[in-house]
Amino acid sequence: MLYLDNSATTQIHPSVKEAMLPFLFEEYGNASSKYYDQALTAKNAVDEARNNMANLLNAKSEEIIFTSGSTESNNMFIKGVAHYYKNKGKHLITTEVEHPSVLECFNFLETEGYEITLLKPDKFGRVSVQQLKEAIRPETILVSVMWGNNELGSLNPIKELSDLCIENEILFHTDATQVVGKIDIDLEEYQGISFLSCSGHKFHGPKGIGAAYIKSDEYGILTPFTPLLHGGGQEKDIRSGTLALHNIVGLGKAAKIAKEEFSINYERVIKSEETLVNILKQKFGQNIRFNNDKTNKIPGLLSVQFIGINNEILLKKLAPYIAASTGSACSSSKPSHVLSSIGLSLETIRSTIRFSLSSYTEPEELEIFKSL
Ligand code: PMP
Repeated sequence: MLYLDNSATTQIHPSVKEAMLPFLFEEYGNASSKYYDQALTAKNAVDEARNNMANLLNAKSEEIIFTSGSTESNNMFIKGVAHYYKNKGKHLITTEVEHPSVLECFNFLETEGYEITLLKPDKFGRVSVQQLKEAIRPETILVSVMWGNNELGSLNPIKELSDLCIENEILFHTDATQVVGKIDIDLEEYQGISFLSCSGHKFHGPKGIGAAYIKSDEYGILTPFTPLLHGGGQEKDIRSGTLALHNIVGLGKAAKIAKEEFSINYERVIKSEETLVNILKQKFGQNIRFNNDKTNKIPGLLSVQFIGINNEILLKKLAPYIAASTGSACSSSKPSHVLSSIGLSLETIRSTIRFSLSSYTEPEELEIFKSL
């Protein structure tokens, strides 16, 4: 089976599994307990994972907290900022092509009386600085723009967008779920980013764990917002709940590997993508079209129209040999809001398949497309 649905989730790296196992059995201490060895081991393991995650993003360890993943982090940041700063303003900006875990937060906030501006993307799903400039108002408190789109792979001009926000004293959140581990991220260079969300299972870590980046000021104080989960005060009172030790260790290991093997994996994915594009062009010629841009995108993500063919039927036919999806795995029953936002017809959307590669994809395996 050729697995080409890495944007939905990825295979756990064998070293990640190895790192996690002891923390499921012998080392099951609570990282918030004190005095005895198991607790200390747990705390040290969490610290190490936090350092690894910070290192991957070039952030400070204190700026990383662990959540259950991007859905939770997106909820935490968007609702948390809206509630904390409601006396400053009630206007929020995002884009039409965000993941539902972002869009649904804004829909919810609308019912609470917030005003939302949705930026319309260009034909590849990107928004521009000019659009954001025109949308900003004196009462704007938050802008949320995804770093890379999960259906088209397009990268947004995050540097320019976040710089504009810092100039205007507006907080900027980015959903970086699809880009962490896949593009080089150096948050030192992105002083305008206040918050970032990512999930471990998108870069060969475990599911149900994510890292949330919260920018600190020159005194080390984290950008404040109202917590989503109240309770025992773990994670600096920002995210209560007993730490998911084994998952945190797995995430940390995945981050370490992603950092150490970045260049080699990046090259591998680019090469495999090139191979796949060539094979698809040779095999299907005029009968396919690419929705994604060729450049400035997530490596290994392709959005391909098979003209006149229903994507569900095609995926079922491919299923014994190739695993792929129509687009986002989170909302695959509805026609994609991303593809309709960029102006594709329903017919085109219904003939589109997303292929997403990883460093595990061997170019030779892609030959299978030739025999279909
Ligand atoms: N944002 C984006 C862009 C995603 O692709 C996903 C996962 N499909 C999420 C958020 C949510 O991540 P999780 O399901 O791990 O919470």
